[in-house]
Amino acid sequence: MLIIKDISNLLTYLDAYKNNGSSIGYVPTMGALHEGHGSLIQKSCNDNQKTIISIFVNKKQFNDTQDYDAYTRNKGNDYNFCEDHKVDIIFEPSQEEIYPKEHQSIKNSFFKNILCDKYRPGHFDGVVTVLNEFFKIIQCNKVYFGEKDFQQLKIVESLIKRDFPKLTLITAPTVRSAKGIALSSRNEKLSKKQMDEFISFQKDVFQFISQIDKRIDLIEANKNAAEFIQGYEKFDYFEFRNSSNLSLDGNLINSRLYYAVYIGNVRLIDNLELFK
Ligand code: AMP
Repeated sequence: MLIIKDISNLLTYLDAYKNNGSSIGYVPTMGALHEGHGSLIQKSCNDNQKTIISIFVNKKQFNDTQDYDAYTRNKGNDYNFCEDHKVDIIFEPSQEEIYPKEHQSIKNSFFKNILCDKYRPGHFDGVVTVLNEFFKIIQCNKVYFGEKDFQQLKIVESLIKRDFPKLTLITAPTVRSAKGIALSSRNEKLSKKQMDEFISFQKDVFQFISQIDKRIDLIEANKNAAEFIQGYEKFDYFEFRNSSNLSLDGNLINSRLYYAVYIGNVRLIDNLELFK
């Protein structure tokens, strides 16, 4: 396994792989790796001769610098994790390597003013900016994203369709702990007490969606959702939306429940399918 920090070195290896006819799968991450990332790596290793993962805590997608500074970083473990999961290259550039002085950010134009875009202004501008750079550098055959960050997935899908038509997007379902919560690098910030609180919240959410009348429309379902979440302290959103276009119209078939809640200061997001 190679750990590469600079673009020119990376290109040397990628060119050699491509000249050999190897297909390249790419898994973008911000590190502090867990089995959610592991499922994406595994898919890539199954589909491709070579798998590259980037570990880059992208400053531009943090609308809050404190959140950026506090984001979980877990270098040594990440290297071992990648080795165990048969990654070929870890690309771990500095901010300066990806964003030289004259670098221009780009603006996201998809799925705006709803869900995380509404509550984290500029966040998805940072996401599309960094992915635009990584996709241009790596020029992989397939790229892997998790359903855990569903709005991000929809934005990436649109970005690829518009700007990188040769790239194939592969998605993977959310990996959960035995207690039902989605694995996330942010979970490591929770104390034992907060973790219990989060697990109990998640249990209530599962209970809530299991008992909702599946024949009602999204408007009616969202009235129920608003009532349910009223009892919780701090949240950005808790709502059902259509999974194809993230709209609030239609019925519950092909919809998911999306939430962003705070446990203490830790902001946690998830989305749950109603029908599988
Ligand atoms: P992150 O490192 O949080 O930016 O996530 C990198 C990739 O891993 C994204 O495509 C995420 O959607 C995906 N991911 C994060 N957590 C999970 C999970 N629990 N299950 C599946 N994929 C995940």
